Amino acid sequence: VIEIGLPEHSAVTTCAYCGVGCTFKAEMRGEELVRMVPYKDGKANHGHSCVKGRFAYGYATHRDRILKPMIRASIEDPWREVSWDEAIGYAASQFRRIQAEHGKQAIGGITSSRCTNEETYLVQKLIRAGFGNNNVDTCARVCHSPTGYGLKTAFGTSAGTQDFDSIEETDVMLVIGANPTDGHPVFGSRMKKRLRAGAKLIVIDPRRIDLVETPHVKADFHLPLQPGCNVSVVTSLAHVIVTEGLVNEAFVRERCDWSEFQDWAAFVSEPRHSPEEVEKISGVPAGLIRGAARLYATGGNAAIFYGLGVTEHSQGSTTVLAIANLAMATGNLGRPGVGVNPLRGQNNVQGACDMGSFPHEFAGYRHVSDTAARDVYESLWGVELEHEPGLRIPNMLDAAVEGTFRGIYIQGEDILQSDPDTHHVASGLKAMDCVIVQDLFLNETANYAHVFLPGSTFLEKDGTFTNAERRIQRVRKVMSPKNGYGDWEITMLLSNAMGFKMSYKHPSEIMDEIALSTPSFAGVSYAKLDEMGSVQWPCNAAAPEGTPVMHIGGFAGGKGKFVITEYVATDERTGPRFPLLLTTGRILSHYNVGAQTRRTANVAWHPEDLLEIHPHDAELRGVKDGDWVRLHSRAGETTLRALVTDRVAPGVVYTTFHHPMTQANVVTTDFSDWATNCPEFKVTAVQISPSNGP
Ligand code: SF4
Repeated sequence: VIEIGLPEHSAVTTCAYCGVGCTFKAEMRGEELVRMVPYKDGKANHGHSCVKGRFAYGYATHRDRILKPMIRASIEDPWREVSWDEAIGYAASQFRRIQAEHGKQAIGGITSSRCTNEETYLVQKLIRAGFGNNNVDTCARVCHSPTGYGLKTAFGTSAGTQDFDSIEETDVMLVIGANPTDGHPVFGSRMKKRLRAGAKLIVIDPRRIDLVETPHVKADFHLPLQPGCNVSVVTSLAHVIVTEGLVNEAFVRERCDWSEFQDWAAFVSEPRHSPEEVEKISGVPAGLIRGAARLYATGGNAAIFYGLGVTEHSQGSTTVLAIANLAMATGNLGRPGVGVNPLRGQNNVQGACDMGSFPHEFAGYRHVSDTAARDVYESLWGVELEHEPGLRIPNMLDAAVEGTFRGIYIQGEDILQSDPDTHHVASGLKAMDCVIVQDLFLNETANYAHVFLPGSTFLEKDGTFTNAERRIQRVRKVMSPKNGYGDWEITMLLSNAMGFKMSYKHPSEIMDEIALSTPSFAGVSYAKLDEMGSVQWPCNAAAPEGTPVMHIGGFAGGKGKFVITEYVATDERTGPRFPLLLTTGRILSHYNVGAQTRRTANVAWHPEDLLEIHPHDAELRGVKDGDWVRLHSRAGETTLRALVTDRVAPGVVYTTFHHPMTQANVVTTDFSDWATNCPEFKVTAVQISPSNGP
């Protein structure tokens, strides 16, 4: 029994883990957080929570937190604690020197999906206005950048189409490349509840995820495709829908470009996209493809939910487009219960994208070449802005190795552990003159940093997060920042030291500026959020109370756009040296690289990453459950324990990436999505051999 005592005060705030965005009441005694109570009026969670949001907050006061700024001239030197003035002055002088010697394009930055909308907005503002370039990117580069590209192309808006409550009207769920009960637990539970009430389920995933069969829930169809075959399978679903006359022609004629539809329909009708042909490529029995297509097209309100198993591929953007085609062809858009719903990973990855974290887009997804949008910011910020897109994260690292990119400001992101091809990331960071890391802990990236600025937790600052259903919710400060400043204040200090003045007194003033300059946020204010609890963008004069369901009556971008989605096999092929395919994912108790959850009691539930391997493949290699194995690919190798299970198909292995001792991304390759550079984390050809341990 833990004696927690009575709380003295509390505040309603938003979970800082996943994109579900559960609301909690943070109960405090003085400066101590005594418990997080799921908030019954929370619009995303209705009083529910998972083990991360409810219990895994101890990292906020963990002894590993760095609370004093540190600098060092070289990464071989020891860190030296300094005052905030000295750290910020040193960082600014290094960045100014780099720009004087190598030009204004030689520096850039990365915003954090863990931080608030206001903080993200400030980082991109500092880079665009203070650095004078568009070299800003975000972690969405390695997760949902294909969603941004694909949904904007098809529907005109880079976001999911429905609110979570809409699931109550869903008759058929198609879950592809997502594992909601682990990755988005509160929404995953809601899906199960709806399934128990009679909704049908199609799962497309190489792994038998929990939803395929748990107590009282069984998928009607599980399509266990080979990793890398999403486009072929989704296009084959379309083949069945078109060739069997299951298209919602009235919807398509009214809402979409009819001639593009006809071209697409002719393309998917080709015999090479038939289930029988696609079975040869994907390994999915043709009967399952036919049955799933018929159920999706004729089962009533059908909603698609997808995750990184769709986006983190060399054809990630193509798969998003193929999914959008499917929804448009069947008329499953523009009303409750249907739609295309990316399950966004991080608490504020939707917000980070909304706030202009991409090198080609201002806040609200307006291209940097858009003169009208640029005019707004030039007059608001008082500077002339670049109209060419800047560098993406992989381009920054390539340019660093080549010597033309020399300094980076990274807020709340551990690119060494979370980005692909760890050796290349390390080479890029090592080649830079000044790496500034702003984080709670000395993460793996900080091994290559020259300036460490201690960051703040979500408990120590005011702001907003935007969840996967575009819901903007308040984050409320319940304790003083242990490091002295909220992250937004640190960005202001750096900006002012660089000579670009910022003088916000509270994050609400930053939101006011966002509302003033971003059409989809025009009606958002802290007063409205306090009054309504939350609001879903677009929120403006046309929709003053926000927009739970998008594209009612028409698409934001005009006519819905059908795009031909040709399947191209990834260059990552199995062969005699590397005969197995590795795919990766998350587990319920941990979050991403584990920086937070590993510093809580959750670590006891999952103290290490395990490699799932099918009994047949394990036996062939003499591997038993619990044995150490060496996992190697052409990119690198790591060592971890085997979990022998038929949850994965023969020929496929699976692991999580929560623990730095595993560093699963040492093994992943440098292939990436053709449109967005999102890395192909989900397909790596590997070999397994017995090992004595690390
Ligand atoms: Fe937090 Fe996501 Fe769990 Fe909700 S489901 S408590 S947002 S981690």
